[in-house]
Amino acid sequence: MTTTATAAVANEPQGKFDFETVELDDLRPDEVLVRNEASGMCHTDFVGQKTMPLPAVLGHEGAGVVEAIGSGISSVKPGDRVIVSYPSCGYCNGCLSGRPYFCDDHLTLGFSGTRLDGSHTIKLKGSKISGAFFQQSSFATHSVTVERNLVPVTKDHAAEMLAAIPCGVQTGAGSILNTFKVLPKESLAVFGAGAVGLSAVMAGKLSGAYPLIAVDIVEERLNLALELGATHVFNAKDGNVAERIKDIAPQGIDYTLETSGNEHALNDAIACLATGGECGMVIAPHLGEKYPFSPSAIFQRAANLRGIIQGSSVPKTFLPLLLNLNRQGRFPYERLIQVYDFQDINQAVIDTKSGKAIKPVLKMDV
Ligand SMILES: [Zn+2]
Ligand SMILES: [Zn+2]
Repeated sequence: MTTTATAAVANEPQGKFDFETVELDDLRPDEVLVRNEASGMCHTDFVGQKTMPLPAVLGHEGAGVVEAIGSGISSVKPGDRVIVSYPSCGYCNGCLSGRPYFCDDHLTLGFSGTRLDGSHTIKLKGSKISGAFFQQSSFATHSVTVERNLVPVTKDHAAEMLAAIPCGVQTGAGSILNTFKVLPKESLAVFGAGAVGLSAVMAGKLSGAYPLIAVDIVEERLNLALELGATHVFNAKDGNVAERIKDIAPQGIDYTLETSGNEHALNDAIACLATGGECGMVIAPHLGEKYPFSPSAIFQRAANLRGIIQGSSVPKTFLPLLLNLNRQGRFPYERLIQVYDFQDINQAVIDTKSGKAIKPVLKMDV
């Protein structure tokens, strides 16, 4: 039986999304068909749009209801509600050691436009197109995805609350709670107050970090960071960020998280580190990009500079934790969400790129 879906298709690297009826491939034994109720949107979708063969169906933060299962599936059944998070192969050393965020194949699984074996999941007018974005392509009414990606959840959560968390929010919160494991009174500075950065601020508050610093260039976002738990905020437009941070933390900062992708922010995040401190980068640098910082700043302070993928999170355990913390009022990420009807996806793109929307979520089920 042919399964069709309505998908928002990207035809040009910077262009608008066009709605099309697409054909989804038959399920493999380890695959699941999810009817998406909602999908988050993040800047990684635009990276995919620029780097993958087009046309493509993007979207990598799905949430919805299981509609059909492959022959080898036992952990979910039709009717179950799920979040669809990031993919991992299940066979490499990272996956076998319980650290799917270290999966050797994460780039291929995310951005190749196909399954790991090179086969396509989506056809448009009879031709194969790029799908399987993060092995889900959730800018569509239905996704072919893999059992390993799924996080079963209860039915009582609003769809937008589920679709908001499986990538950027998970990355921000996980960087603090899983990667850094920040302890009370350890200091933390977060550069960039978008969805990832503000999630890190909320997690920093949970950890008892002090001082808990947020840096951005947009005053409203800095005010929101204060409301969400930052103890100090700095507008980078005023200059000398590292100097001003040292005024309040003369020995430097234990942990810095760079979420903006801006080279000045990375310089500052390194320059303000304490001896033995650690700086995490969560935004992919442009391929081949060179940053002009001096490695002596790292060496002299015996500091670490590291990449962080998905906040070192195992989604099946970490996303239910975030939902629980939210229920308790201790991780109020609903403050970041802006909901759009799926048909308004192009407006959501404009608002995401302009910074007007912090965490856009498309709702298919309206
Ligand atoms: Zn793997
Ligand atoms: Zn993302």
